[in-house]
Amino acid sequence: MSRPVPNPGILDIAPYTPGKSPVPEPGRKVFKLSANETPLGPSPKAIEAYKQVADHLEDYPEGTSRVLREAIGRAFGLDPDRIICGAGSDEILNLLAHTYLSQSDEAISTAHGFLVYPIATMANGAKNVVVPETDYTADVDAILARVTPRTKLVWLANPNNPTGTYLPFNEVKRLRAGLPGHVLLVLDAAYSDYVSRNDYELGIELVATTENTVMTHTFSKIHGLAALRIGWMFGPAHIVDAVNRIRGPFNVSTAAMNAAVAAIEDTAHIQMSKAHTEKWRNWLTEEISKLGLKVTPSVANFVLIHFPTDKGRTSAEADVYLTKRGLVLRALNNYGLPHALRMTIGTEEANRLVVEGLRDFMAGK
Ligand SMILES: *Cc1c(COP(=O)(O)O)cnc(C)c1O
Repeated sequence: MSRPVPNPGILDIAPYTPGKSPVPEPGRKVFKLSANETPLGPSPKAIEAYKQVADHLEDYPEGTSRVLREAIGRAFGLDPDRIICGAGSDEILNLLAHTYLSQSDEAISTAHGFLVYPIATMANGAKNVVVPETDYTADVDAILARVTPRTKLVWLANPNNPTGTYLPFNEVKRLRAGLPGHVLLVLDAAYSDYVSRNDYELGIELVATTENTVMTHTFSKIHGLAALRIGWMFGPAHIVDAVNRIRGPFNVSTAAMNAAVAAIEDTAHIQMSKAHTEKWRNWLTEEISKLGLKVTPSVANFVLIHFPTDKGRTSAEADVYLTKRGLVLRALNNYGLPHALRMTIGTEEANRLVVEGLRDFMAGK
């Protein structure tokens, strides 16, 4: 009997496996440190703005997210006409892939890159080309070496998740200069708010001065609005025009839009979150390193912890051990990092408990 057949590429996508449900010992408080959510929550002003929408749930949202595009424009000094908002940056990434990729095209992502990229690529029938990294960092020469006449798009998270590393802006510019003009470079700046390095840039200048680069961003991380699904991109006018043609007319909810405006305007909350992250990122890196575990230097709101491969000390065993104590980290087998765990920086209490847990684990307790 005949039956519907999915488009080419769809069944090559590995089915999404949700993170395990934590099963701690009875009586343990659970700390979810596995999804890079902020432990500090959103701005109270964002929560208030969200609640106000409850009085008008019968109304469709304003379809272009104008108020939010204007607020983003003010915050970053951008032309609101060159911004598109989406239901999380996930939607934006998928819209970009849908707009620019089709069968027989290739899109490049890096060895330990964000898993949404290969899914967006393959969902459009294109080939996902994976390029090795150097020291858990994107390697511009390795990327350029894999460009073929079929390459249409390059995905680059900067900083990268799950490694926490970043490319200095001169390297990003060198990448752009080395790519053919028809190749779209997508700079995913989800974690840019946590970076304080002089040689780092979100890529706004590159987007503004080229016809083939976009920058995406999210309200899920430092703004603490992951539940509302809200992200955005800044791009050249012709890309904004093309993507807007396939974007759903009401793709962003009023609640998400209004909460995001309040969040981006609460600079005190953003600064407080950044300071908390920086302080505890330094502390965790130092304390975990003292235990004999390698920590990849991170500029984001998480750290990548590498474990030995000898029995009793492996990342899989550490994961089970910490989970029993209510400390849920992220295993990274899907990301090509089977011997590492990613830990989202948490509250002071959570951070101290993880170090204590790892100390006991390494001591074989
Ligand atoms: C968390 C994250 C995002 C944000 O995704 P949303 O859909 O906006 O929640 C984007 N890119 C990377 C690399 C991330 O880790």
